[in-house]
This record gives sequence, structure tokens and C-alpha cells, in this order.
Amino acid sequence: MSEKSQKQKELASLWKNIKPLRQAIDKLPIFKTSVTFGDIFQINIEHIDTKYESQIKDTALLLRSWRKGPFKIGDLFIDAEWKSFIKYNLLRPHFDLKGKKIADVGCNNGYYLFKMLEEKPKKLVGFDPVPLFWCQFDFINHFAKTDILYELLGIEDLLGYEEKFDVIFCLGVLYHRSDPIGCLKSLFSALEKDGELFLDTFMIEGDEDMALCPKGSYSKISNVYFIPTISALKNWCERAGFSKFEVLAKRPTDTTEQRKTEWILGQSLEDFLDPDDNSKTLEGYPSPKRVYVKVKK
Ligand code: SAH
Repeated sequence: MSEKSQKQKELASLWKNIKPLRQAIDKLPIFKTSVTFGDIFQINIEHIDTKYESQIKDTALLLRSWRKGPFKIGDLFIDAEWKSFIKYNLLRPHFDLKGKKIADVGCNNGYYLFKMLEEKPKKLVGFDPVPLFWCQFDFINHFAKTDILYELLGIEDLLGYEEKFDVIFCLGVLYHRSDPIGCLKSLFSALEKDGELFLDTFMIEGDEDMALCPKGSYSKISNVYFIPTISALKNWCERAGFSKFEVLAKRPTDTTEQRKTEWILGQSLEDFLDPDDNSKTLEGYPSPKRVYVKVKK
């Protein structure tokens, strides 16, 4: 683990909202487990006492909001806000991870990384700077017992990171960054020669080299800065040094993929669209649509 990530974890563990989560994770008993790969990342537990079942459920509830998933631990189903397998299954035919070094940047609780274990990569590293998601990862990994490395770091920390990767995933992150081309440069720098980047971002329709710059918020998300046309996204990638740009898919985000469940606190997509016209966000922008691309170093 990088020194900076280690330090961030030590500091975050002292925060008053994170400390109880770390304590609850540390108190979890150790079980004999196995995993089953499917749309649900499932951990099977041998011989579990009911008193431990409620401890696991209470800890999982403490760790809300669960944005990405779903997971199942024993009989406990964590029905996350996102059905993340929809994106994973869309990308799955386009990658081969066997024996490769993989990074997932903006990995959230590590759902995709856990799923990728099935592909037998050489190494899996997740990057995400948000302590709650690191705690969720450690909770799942307590049961899954994998050697996935979780770096409590942001995309900006890839510049000068100690290792390079054969394949990087950076999904649903770019529009959250105020400097998307700088981010693409960081991703470029962290790739091995001939490395591949899988990217998805909100997009707008059009042939022009344009990006939408939402005023204040987009779909009630305040940290969305630039939403490009596909052509503008290609220009960004080229400016960052990438050569081959391949569009894999385009897809609206709808409530089959993202919706309110008991595992999140607060609202979800259904509350962020114009109730009279679902083709628009509450702010009057085109409703969320994503493009999925593969680019090469
Ligand atoms: N990749 C997942 C999650 C996308 S949500 C998916 O596609 O489903 C966006 C993620 O980016 C969140 O987990 C958030 O914590 C993370 N994030 C926030 N700031 C970041 C940064 N500076 N660098 C990398 N990830 C960041």
C-alpha cells in the first residue's frame, strides 16, 4: 500500500463518523467462507449462529449508504442503490484480465473488483478517496478474504503512483472532476505501454465538439462539471495522449439500474427527473445517458 494511502486511512479512522464503523468491522467474528460469482457478489458462510447474523446486519446498516452492489453475506441481501452488474455485464465481453495488473479508479466499495477476481488477474488495486466506501470494502473483504488492495486515494494520485497497470477502469468518475483532461492524463500516466482504459461518463447527444456545463447541479448531483458529446470526449482522450478510441455502448441510466432501496439514506434517480417529462432532469437538462468507451495508450 502507498504511504499516502496508509496515512489517509490512519487519519480517517479517527473521524467521528468513521471511528464507530472501524470498531464495528474490527469486532466481526471470523468465519469459514466461500464466494459465488454472479450478478450478486455472494459470500457463503458455513455454520452461522443467529446472534452473529444480527451483528452482521447491524454492521451493514451502520455502513449505509450502499451505492454499489448488490452483495449477499450469508442470508443478508444488501440491495444497493445501483444494480452495478448492468454496467459490469455490458463491459464484460470487451475485456480480458487474465494474468494482468488491474486498477479500478473510483472503485467505491469494490463491487467490480470483487467480481473481477473471477477473471484471475495478477493483481487488483482499487482507488477511492472516500473513507465510508473503504469501510464498506473492508466489511465485505472481512468475509471474502481477498488480496485486493484498496488505496484511499483519488485519481489525481495516479500521477507518480508506484506501479503501472495493464488495464484501468475509470467508471462514473470523469464528470465529477473539474479537470477531466488532467484526470485522463493521470490515467494515461498510470498505464503500461499498450495498456487499456475503460471509461464511462454522462454524455449529451450531438455531432459537435461541445460539453454541457451544468449550473449548480445536474440531476441533483452538485459535483457534475462537464458532460461532453462523444466527439468532445474523443478530443479529451486524444489531448491526454490516448490513440485508439472505441465506443462500446450508449445507454440511458434509468430506474431499473438506479433506484431508492432500504440500503441508502436519502433520495435516488426517481426524485431527480422532471416528474412531467422523464427525458429531462429536474434542472431541465437532458436526462442521464452514458457512453462506455475503450481507449488505448
Ligand atoms: N466506479 C463506480 C462508482 C462510480 S461513483 C461505478 O461506475 O459504479 C463515483 C466514485 O468516485 C465514488 O465512489 C466516489 O467516492 C469516487 N471519487 C470521488 N472523488 C474521487 C477522486 N478524486 N478520484 C477517484 N474517485 C473519486
